[in-house]
Amino acid sequence: MNWSHIIVHHTGAEEKDAAQVRAYHLSLGWRDVGYHFVVERAGAVVAGRPLALPGAHCLAGGMNRRGIGVALIGNLEAHPPLSAQFAALVELLRGLASAYAIPPANVLGHREVPGAATLCPGRYLDMEEVRGRLRAAGNRLWRVQVGAFRERRRAEQLAARLRALGFETLII
Ligand SMILES: [Zn+2]
Repeated sequence: MNWSHIIVHHTGAEEKDAAQVRAYHLSLGWRDVGYHFVVERAGAVVAGRPLALPGAHCLAGGMNRRGIGVALIGNLEAHPPLSAQFAALVELLRGLASAYAIPPANVLGHREVPGAATLCPGRYLDMEEVRGRLRAAGNRLWRVQVGAFRERRRAEQLAARLRALGFETLII
């Protein structure tokens, strides 16, 4: 895939965790969760479908093939993200933007994609603020919490993927 954008979503529902989001998407007959990453409320970043596959999150603008799909759990039209969740989002976006040389201007909320008729990712997710944070550069050490995954294998998969992208990654 040739990723030129990152598209930010909220799930629009109050799932308890990424596993529930995945189960819902599988129930729709999809082969995996539609997003490449899901950010849980407490800030755990959970790997979704592999970045080698197009997403299933944004038909507008052909973004399923051009844009990495990142979703925050929650209905951010009704309430803001928790600060840990927002911080994890910014850190994830910063890493992806740097790995794929995606400029902050190409990091868009779903509703900012021309042709998308949606409120997603909700009025309480300020994409201008997100882009502002991305303009502050710098690499970070990634910490992948095994406790955030049902299986250690999935934590290791995410860590391996992040390492392949050039991030220093530590499993805790
Ligand atoms: Zn969306």
